[in-house]
Amino acid sequence: MRRVIGVDLGGTKINAGVVDDTGKICNNIILETLAGQGRDVVIKRIVEAVQSIMEDDIIGIGITSPGFINSDDGIVEFAGNIKGWTGLNMHKTFSRYFPGKELRIENDANMAALCEKWVGSGKDLKSFVMLTLGTGLGGAIYHEAMGLWLGANYQGAELGHMILYPNGRACNCGQLGCAEKYIAGSALSINYEELTNDILDGHEIISKIESDESARAALDKFVDDLATFLVSIKNCHDPEGVILGGGFINSREKWWSLLLERFNEKCNRPEGIKIVPAKFLNDSGIIGAAKSVLDVIDKQGS
Ligand SMILES: [Zn+2]
Repeated sequence: MRRVIGVDLGGTKINAGVVDDTGKICNNIILETLAGQGRDVVIKRIVEAVQSIMEDDIIGIGITSPGFINSDDGIVEFAGNIKGWTGLNMHKTFSRYFPGKELRIENDANMAALCEKWVGSGKDLKSFVMLTLGTGLGGAIYHEAMGLWLGANYQGAELGHMILYPNGRACNCGQLGCAEKYIAGSALSINYEELTNDILDGHEIISKIESDESARAALDKFVDDLATFLVSIKNCHDPEGVILGGGFINSREKWWSLLLERFNEKCNRPEGIKIVPAKFLNDSGIIGAAKSVLDVIDKQGS
């Protein structure tokens, strides 16, 4: 059995694990990213995480990063969340620490999608669009004939920065009205703050749904906006499925049926698309990153 290490680099946590060639995680570790301390500290943290689970039979390492990632050369074209991360040649940097191991650097949302295709909710789908509803809104587009859509500048499938409201809320990317400001997990707090001037996190708002009218209104707007966005996804790609992942879908029992109801109301032809939750949440980056290494090794062998 072949084994590789997958590393999922996030703005707050580094999640790394040993993954076998059936997609099972055998051993994993979670470290704080310490993103505020800058690039050199984050590099050290990743190396520490990998070294702590390294074994003799590991044949490669896959590392995800947020941002626009040139996965052909392993270079970060742009990443806003970690100080100094933009411009880093991750492939060159980590090759020095782990000589002789196959190394892949990939975009985090793409690896979440690769995980779902391999062992999750996308297993039987020939084409799908994936949205990850976390602090940000990640996107990935998959078709079995082409694989993942990377784009000419490695900015393909940045679905969180499709504009949902013309001239709407200001996004960190510099645009106005990006979908991320309305339907990322963190956007529920913005909806609630606009209604009440109170700042609560998503969990707190969800926990007040039964008792607080503003919490209900904030969630209703969130779900309505998500349904609208899915109509555009359907009209642009007509995928066989849409997979919704990210931490926010843990609360889906409070809103999933409403989402489907609104989607069916809004869409001109709502039939013929499956909208399903992701099977993996926190571990999807590790598993996808590991799969990207196995795929490259298989390609070299064929
Ligand atoms: Zn944006």
